[in-house]
Amino acid sequence: MQSISPETIFRGNDAWDKALPQIKNLTKSPLILGRSIQTNNLRNQIFKDLKNQNLDVNFTNLQFDCCYEDIERVKGIISANNHDSLIAAGGGKVLDSGKYIAECLNIPCITVPLSASTCAGWTALSNIYTKNGQFIKDVALRSCPKILVYDHQFIQTAPTRTLASGIADALAKWYESSITSSTIDDGLVQQAIQISRVLRDQLLINGEKAFKSAFDNNAPWRNTIEACGLTAGLVGGIGGEKCRTAAAHAIHNAITQIITPNKFLHGEIVGVGLLLQLRLEEMKNNNKLAEQSIKQLLVLMKKLKLPTTIAQLGINVFENQNLDKIADFTLRANSEIHFLPFEIYKKDLIKVIANFEQEKIKIQ
Ligand SMILES: [Zn+2]
Repeated sequence: MQSISPETIFRGNDAWDKALPQIKNLTKSPLILGRSIQTNNLRNQIFKDLKNQNLDVNFTNLQFDCCYEDIERVKGIISANNHDSLIAAGGGKVLDSGKYIAECLNIPCITVPLSASTCAGWTALSNIYTKNGQFIKDVALRSCPKILVYDHQFIQTAPTRTLASGIADALAKWYESSITSSTIDDGLVQQAIQISRVLRDQLLINGEKAFKSAFDNNAPWRNTIEACGLTAGLVGGIGGEKCRTAAAHAIHNAITQIITPNKFLHGEIVGVGLLLQLRLEEMKNNNKLAEQSIKQLLVLMKKLKLPTTIAQLGINVFENQNLDKIADFTLRANSEIHFLPFEIYKKDLIKVIANFEQEKIKIQ
């Protein structure tokens, strides 16, 4: 079974207003789930609009992350108040929690992404973390959300940092799926990989313009946010589990194990993982194009003010056995890194990360 996309998608400047009648038909008593204080105003507007539709609406925020503690608490609220749907309005962690909770309780989930940082509003997947933000596992869900509301005016209010993060995460789709899945003899998987290549090209062309004009709602910006929030999700939907993540996400998952005072966004960490994946391809797979891809990506990443080293994520890999910790978690059983078509040993990963960090220290 494969769930390719949300049942209904509203997109554009007035997506939320257009979605309201359908939401009213679907639910009598929704619970709105959010997290960050910065997006409280938008959730208040969503709350008021639903009240005006005479819905018995309530809201709650995640206290930590997409973690079991929050998931259990929100499940309790929904059961106690007989809510018949969940409206997840926020970033990736909120969307992932909402989808997971709704599936557990067998109620419909409506996703309302409030930034372009992720394609979580689309996908049938939730990443589960500890309450401190350490990756635990990803869970495949039975279906994509019932309704996805991709309201450009909502997304326009998000900080540009979230857009840069979404671009890095969406770029990874091509580099990860093409190396893990290009030998799969399944037309849909091959087409999904091709979509991810077009997606990458569009982001390379429009990404910088979109970032610089993030509050203008112009064509490059619209194309970019839809690439990050919609097309990236479609690639996952069509490609299914065979259109896999690889080293970039495996390294992301490992980096989240080290708790730092400043939190970084999912795509910001994935971007660094992507550069390291390309170094591994160069070393282990003799991929001559990898060096060119790294140079090309570095130019864009710098323009988007994205971190390009683990040091810039606030972690010194040469301290506290961090290098060992990152390598061990990246290479653990069931890690996505094992989808690469060549074997990676701990010494390879340590060498690549250590060289990469030292190289960058010298340049800076
Ligand atoms: Zn991702």
